[in-house]
Amino acid sequence: MADTIDQAQQVQSQHLEASLDRIRAENSNQEPSLLICQGCGDEIPKARREAVPGCKFCVTCQEKETG
Ligand SMILES: [Zn+2]
Repeated sequence: MADTIDQAQQVQSQHLEASLDRIRAENSNQEPSLLICQGCGDEIPKARREAVPGCKFCVTCQEKETG
């Protein structure tokens, strides 16, 4: 019985760790990526938002920004 409870607690703490890791990862990014480009107002594609944490511009505007 005790083993079952231990296992359950272990699984629970693993879940908790996973959640904390996710929160830490989210907080470690300077800022979350924006849905809408600050330059042209177009939606930033999901792939770009995930690839570039904290991005604020679409590819076109980013190129203008960075020159
Ligand atoms: Zn743009």
